[in-house]
Amino acid sequence: MPRCPVCAAPVDLVKTPTVPFCSDRCRTIDLGRWLNESYGLPRRTPSGAADDECGESGDGES
Ligand SMILES: [Zn+2]
Repeated sequence: MPRCPVCAAPVDLVKTPTVPFCSDRCRTIDLGRWLNESYGLPRRTPSGAADDECGESGDGES
């Protein structure tokens, strides 16, 4: 049985009209999070976002 992404409660796919959330409350919470990320600060993942600035100068004199 899948779990609610908000509160991790088991969600019955047949009996729950708010899947994948267990309840309308959890759906609202998730929607609020999503909206906050949307028009909030454009957060990027802190890792791997920086470009490699390895200057490969000085390759050696031939
Ligand atoms: Zn929930």
